[in-house]
Amino acid sequence: MANSQDAQTIIIGAGIVGLATAKALIDRGESAPVLLEAESQIATHQTGHNSGVIHSGLYYKPGSLKATLCTTGRDAMYQFCRDHDITVETSGKVVVATQEHERPQLESLRKRGTANGIADLEILNQDQLRKHEPHITAIAGMFVREAGITDFGQVAQAMRQEIEDAGGTIQTGVTATRCHNQGEQTVVETNSGPLKARHVVNCAGLHCDRIARASGLAGDVRIVPFRGEYTLLSEQAAALVRSLIYPVPDPRFPFLGVHLTRTVHGTVKAGPNALLAFARHGYKMRHINVKDLLGIASYSGSWRMAAKYWRTGVSEFRRSLSKRVMLRSIQQLIPEIQANDLKQGPAGVRAQAVDRSGQLLDDFCIKRDGNIVHVLNAPSPAATASITIGQSIAAQLLNTNSSQPKTHSQ
Ligand SMILES: Cc1cc2nc3c(=O)[nH]c(=O)nc-3n(C[C@H](O)[C@H](O)[C@H](O)COP(=O)(O)OP(=O)(O)OC[C@H]3O[C@@H](n4cnc5c(N)ncnc54)[C@H](O)[C@@H]3O)c2cc1C
Repeated sequence: MANSQDAQTIIIGAGIVGLATAKALIDRGESAPVLLEAESQIATHQTGHNSGVIHSGLYYKPGSLKATLCTTGRDAMYQFCRDHDITVETSGKVVVATQEHERPQLESLRKRGTANGIADLEILNQDQLRKHEPHITAIAGMFVREAGITDFGQVAQAMRQEIEDAGGTIQTGVTATRCHNQGEQTVVETNSGPLKARHVVNCAGLHCDRIARASGLAGDVRIVPFRGEYTLLSEQAAALVRSLIYPVPDPRFPFLGVHLTRTVHGTVKAGPNALLAFARHGYKMRHINVKDLLGIASYSGSWRMAAKYWRTGVSEFRRSLSKRVMLRSIQQLIPEIQANDLKQGPAGVRAQAVDRSGQLLDDFCIKRDGNIVHVLNAPSPAATASITIGQSIAAQLLNTNSSQPKTHSQ
């Protein structure tokens, strides 16, 4: 046994979703949830490699989990940051159309955002937008007051502290492989022996689908890793960006397009792009993992996905390989930025679920299988929504009434 004491709940993965789930269980009276984390530290993957944007809830289909959990989660995240002295800025953001054909999409975003409860969304002209971002170029756009920035790595550390103070444990260096029922108990097999609990929550991010399949979950979605590379702006160019500048996104794709993000640390990042990664931890183009690659190649959904999105894929690769192409995307937002203002920044890898038809799952996907809950798709805005994702999982497991919507699968 990795730990002889049986926990009530074991959570696999100490990213922000796993941590928020443990926190929510504690808030509902559970005394000592156990988190298992494969790495030597928490928040090593998506939670530590993202844009740090607290999303408003603008983009998501009204009634979807993303829409409901992001809008409630956003406010909970602002509150959590304030309560824990974590730097947070409610700076707002602009979304800009730079070409005529983007106007209808901008208008449908305005309607979506309004349906999701975002206040005072109106289409603005360039002069009005420049009151918020003096250097942008746009034919039209919107200002979204509810968006902000923080550092989700710091949020994760504060959650960790809260969990440990309440009696919870985080075991690092423990890799879970599968779970199965044994009478009333659920057994989690790990690299350091089996562990038992009443409930198990699989929040393993880039590896969640493997654990779900090994645990016998029916249904077939796979995680396909998409690397998001950032470009850092020089100090001079960063001074041209007040807060957050986003293009109108391509509605066929669940990623938001290259945007400019001021971080709470004072730097400005451009990106992230969205490239098929050749490893689940493929933070660099040269990182290749044969098992991961074979997993992608042997899944029919990957080929259908390639057939649907190859054009977008090719242009993302061109933007990754050519500074000139990246510069062009950035200059569509702020023409004053020049090539010598750009330098290569860090990257993150998104855990994006794809179904057998090749569709990139748009909504969060959370499936319950007896005493096990699998979080199968928690891409952006799951960091923003983590607190309410955790609350709704905890409410389901403990059968308590929650003001949050029930989790469901797509
Ligand atoms: C480039 C990029 C930009 C983003 N920008 C934003 C943004 O601005 N705003 C926003 O809200 N969201 C953003 N996101 C999304 C957000 O980061 C993720 O939705 C969120 O971090 C998911 O958290 P998680 O806990 O599910 O996953 P993770 O943070 O990946 O955590 C999963 C954890 O599980 C562990 N694990 C995996 N396998 C096992 C195993 N077998 N046993 C034990 N442990 C295991 C991993 O080591 C990891 O620590 C972005 C993501 C990326 C990649």
